[in-house]
Amino acid sequence: MTAQTSIALNRIAPSQTTAMTDRATQLRAEGRDIISLSVGEPDFATPPHVVAAAKAALDAGDTKYTPVGGTARLKAAAALHFTRDLGIEVPVSQVTVSAGGKQAIFHAIMATVSAGEEVIVPSPWWVSYPEIIRFAGGKVVPLLTHPQDNFRFTAADLEAQIGPRTQWLMLNSPGNPTGASYPAGMLLAIGEVLRHHPQIMVMSDDIYSPLIYTGQSHATLANLCPDLGTRILTISGVSKSHAMTGFRIGVAAGPEWLIAAMEKLQSHSSGNPCSISQAAAVAAFEGPQDFLGEWRERFRLRRDMVVAAINAIPGLSTPTPDGAFYCMVDAAPLMERFGNDEALALQLLDHGVAIVAASAFGGKDGFRISFAADEAKLEEALRRIAAAVA
Ligand code: GLU
Repeated sequence: MTAQTSIALNRIAPSQTTAMTDRATQLRAEGRDIISLSVGEPDFATPPHVVAAAKAALDAGDTKYTPVGGTARLKAAAALHFTRDLGIEVPVSQVTVSAGGKQAIFHAIMATVSAGEEVIVPSPWWVSYPEIIRFAGGKVVPLLTHPQDNFRFTAADLEAQIGPRTQWLMLNSPGNPTGASYPAGMLLAIGEVLRHHPQIMVMSDDIYSPLIYTGQSHATLANLCPDLGTRILTISGVSKSHAMTGFRIGVAAGPEWLIAAMEKLQSHSSGNPCSISQAAAVAAFEGPQDFLGEWRERFRLRRDMVVAAINAIPGLSTPTPDGAFYCMVDAAPLMERFGNDEALALQLLDHGVAIVAASAFGGKDGFRISFAADEAKLEEALRRIAAAVA
């Protein structure tokens, strides 16, 4: 029988971040020595009080269905997180829980975007944004950003991309794959543009909010422009902040109609997020947060180390990312030798380092490094990268 995949599925490509990570895992299983800097996943252990809450949930028999959009307990803890950590006051009726931030984004786009609607996506972008939009039938409108601007767009850049069919703006700060972080002043200017275009909704993906290295605190649109709150969906979670990627818990805060629409779709896709993971996420949001400062400092030191090492390798360069745990490396001077960035990625894999080619993120001639790996691994990986391109 020939393959009968749908028109919608044929519009998209598999996730290249997860594909590269799976490939690295497979090569390691075959006995190859591969350092994986391909996936954005903190190497730190999940905090013990979170693990204890998961075990307690199992022992208490919390192994059954929960409400589709999450337990009342987790919705309350998520509302606490939005208020305390992001400055967004939301009632629980405006909060929902999903199997990772990715699922919340998927459901929000699928629930709202119809054929031909446009979504502005700053580029380089996180690999799944354009694919989700295309799967929904929407049109991706790239908003190009550049290393010399630390990969940030301005309010004027945004205004130039807005058209009559613009439905959403994707905003990811601190951002994947560039680490771009938008200070309050830039967000206020963006908010001012949005006031003139009342049809545009904003997906504010704040999953990396604790990871800012500028000394400034995280700024977010729903806090800065409460008058726009009825059209902002803020995404957060515990994966990156609390090293809980495998638990698959994301949370979202937004207008009630959109939260209801997302839950309607979730009721037919996954149903409720994992009951045990939800109990663990309650502990993450309600428990101590002081370790976040220590982790942030570790990440900052790693960032400095990676940026210095990359910029010392002939043919490679990167700006200093302000947040998250990614560096977008430019390798344009090496393209004559390697052909394209995918060939370079394969060459690096041959030398024992897994990274993801810039083209996966709508960029070109470079690659993304995740520095969420321990210092010894990073040092060795950078040595291998230097040797591979020498
Ligand atoms: N967001 C992470 C990354 O970009 C996890 C993998 C994924 O879902 O893409 O590496």
